[in-house]
Amino acid sequence: MEFSVKVLVCIKHWGATGILIEWEDTFPYIAELVDIGSQQSPNGSGGDGLYSLQEVQHVFNFAKDIGLEVIQLIQTIGHMEFVLKHPAFSNLRETPRSSAVLCPLRQHSQGLVRTMLTQVLDAQPDARFIHIGADEVWHLGVCDQCKSRASSSRYGVTTLYLEHVSNLVTFIKLKRPGIVVMMWDDMIRNVGMDALREYKLHQLVEPVVWHYNPKECFSVDPTLWLVYGQMFPRVWAGSAFKGANGSSALYPQTLRYATNHEAWRNELRKFGSLVHFGGLVLTGWSRYDHYATLCELMTLSLPTLKSCLQVFMKTDHQSTESLLTDSLPPSEWPGEDVARAFLKFLAAKDRAFSFIHGDQVISWFSPWHQSNNYICPDQLENIASNAQHLLAELAAVDGELESHLLQVTGRRSAGELLETHLRPLRRQLAALRDQAAGRGAAGPGLFAAQ
Ligand SMILES: [Zn+2]
Repeated sequence: MEFSVKVLVCIKHWGATGILIEWEDTFPYIAELVDIGSQQSPNGSGGDGLYSLQEVQHVFNFAKDIGLEVIQLIQTIGHMEFVLKHPAFSNLRETPRSSAVLCPLRQHSQGLVRTMLTQVLDAQPDARFIHIGADEVWHLGVCDQCKSRASSSRYGVTTLYLEHVSNLVTFIKLKRPGIVVMMWDDMIRNVGMDALREYKLHQLVEPVVWHYNPKECFSVDPTLWLVYGQMFPRVWAGSAFKGANGSSALYPQTLRYATNHEAWRNELRKFGSLVHFGGLVLTGWSRYDHYATLCELMTLSLPTLKSCLQVFMKTDHQSTESLLTDSLPPSEWPGEDVARAFLKFLAAKDRAFSFIHGDQVISWFSPWHQSNNYICPDQLENIASNAQHLLAELAAVDGELESHLLQVTGRRSAGELLETHLRPLRRQLAALRDQAAGRGAAGPGLFAAQ
């Protein structure tokens, strides 16, 4: 939490005007929702112990005090794994094999997402915005009930989606008149104006058009701006500063993300007369979905975030390249020690990977050498010694990284990162060292090359 509020201070200083928070399973849901959030419960998944209601409200108040708008993001039909994986809610899945999508027609589905929204809104009595997600609904119209309803509806499966969103937002607006409801736009991009009007989407929501590609492959269909410009009083753009460059990527490629912001800057200028843009949401994803591993840590991505904000707000005389940075002054870099330890790990990981798959091992200790007992003890002694050296380096990095990670990410995420990327490599190197030492000690092998 201390890290989070420091980040707020930095982004405000860099020019951000608000923050979009997707809690997922880290919000302290209560009562019938206790299993899906951060509170301890017999069937809960714990949310890494993050966050308590006091911590949530501390962030809200702190952000408000320094002039940042806080917008909470709660998924309400797709990306619902953190809810629908629990036995208590599994009967609401659109398809039994996937916990991603909520069936919009089950009796308790609408009630579930309404309760979630009620709880997060209760935590923020002065909220001016709320974001209902609603992107990437992978399975729509799959269950028998939805199939039958879609086949008899004017807009097919789209009807199911629009009806669900429309009912939900109507509920939110009754509860909180005047609140602005945002949603990702990908599911309505090709819906057409008639359907959007029939379900009053243009009066209920403000879409966020997300597009994360770098400049060289950035392309939004201009007819989308024509349609949205006519339909919606205000539209938002969504870029990415991390977590959109490979589901297990660890090192953020600043230039790749910066040019996405350069492209958005150009797009908003080009179509600003057609569409009333509310602003840009700079997304920084930590996982591709609930079950995917962590990618591009926030601490390591803060220089990229600053670069992206600078590029988006640059003058015509400034080049994108001149605004890129991969480092920050200590006063602007919360979690710098985590980032530096992680960079050390990445360098050690590269060295270990290059060694395991490099010349020495392939030339003198390949699987063929091993199975044919074609062994040169001098080389194997070198291999064992080099592996030991790399192991010592990784062990030191492991200890340093774990202690720093625990201060920022919580125990679950720290363990996940180390057990996914670092410790398997240590085990692999240790096995290589032991095999090389054992086989080398047995003396030269006799098998001759053919
Ligand atoms: Zn269904």
